[in-house]
Amino acid sequence: MRIREIRATQPPTPGSPPDWRTQLGQIVVEIETDDGLVGIGVGGGGAAGIHVVQTVLRDLLLGRDATDVEQLHAEICHHTSFYGRKGLVVMAISGVDLALWDLRGKTANLPVARLLNPNVDLQRELPTYSTVFDDTDAETAFKSGHQAIKLHVERFGNRPDPAVIADLVQRTRDRLGPDASVMIDAFARWDIDTSLRIADAIAPHDVAWLEEPIQPDDLDGYAVLAEKSPVPIAGGEHEYLADGFKTLIDRRLHAVLQPDISWCGGLTTLIDIYKMAQAANIRVVPHRGCEPYGLAAIAALDRNPLAESGRKWFNCLGGFPAICDGRISLSNEPGFGVARGDR
Ligand SMILES: [Mg+2]
Repeated sequence: MRIREIRATQPPTPGSPPDWRTQLGQIVVEIETDDGLVGIGVGGGGAAGIHVVQTVLRDLLLGRDATDVEQLHAEICHHTSFYGRKGLVVMAISGVDLALWDLRGKTANLPVARLLNPNVDLQRELPTYSTVFDDTDAETAFKSGHQAIKLHVERFGNRPDPAVIADLVQRTRDRLGPDASVMIDAFARWDIDTSLRIADAIAPHDVAWLEEPIQPDDLDGYAVLAEKSPVPIAGGEHEYLADGFKTLIDRRLHAVLQPDISWCGGLTTLIDIYKMAQAANIRVVPHRGCEPYGLAAIAALDRNPLAESGRKWFNCLGGFPAICDGRISLSNEPGFGVARGDR
């Protein structure tokens, strides 16, 4: 099954925030084979990511056997390693890898989750959590039955008053009750001192994790936080490839790892991350886990599954399962069950 054509596009996503239209711009990668199948993946990198796919990756992959997914992943990572071990090149590679996995599922006429785990229960309802960006989002999440909510607090700036964040957590906890999960995402805006002061302030409210408090490359800073924070530290949403995650795991910098399957290197990389993390007894909760790509891996590989709500503005593809009462199920469709067109 030879690769006949590779295309990458950035479909309009009305309502998406500026970073999702620019540096984090999500791209759709389509790989067509000589027997007429089309695999669909989602990667990142915007216009620059499209350039990477349609030049260097296309040159490498045209005419190759599409079933050789792991070998192709290794080759394109090796070929781009002098300029692309992190960031948008790997985001672009992720879209290609997911399109190849989609083809693998369609060729076998099986969901990708079944390829990963023959015993996976496709009907199983998996728990989700909702990421909320403001009070309106939070109200929507409360009303839709979510029992786990992550409060994105970038809007409070680089050095927020710990009492303000603690009050937000307290109000959310009061609304959800003692058994629900509450998390905080700082979007890498804080310094170490701010992170520790806020961690101390929110710890009495039983916060499941504090996500990305500082910049992703400040590994020594994360070592301090891992040792001193009373709240478990989560991160990895902006880490890349198995080598990057191996460092995070070996140094035990995060209690919860959050690889994004459309950015970190695709499913081939996420499988490696799961193996390393499970061997080290570190939890994996993929970023955007309710989108079909991450969801397949969570359902098939995760012993303690939890899927993050997808981005409501990313609606250029069909086949995205709906979240009902805070739970989600896989599609039975071959591949990832994704199709072009509005979902
Ligand atoms: Mg995050």
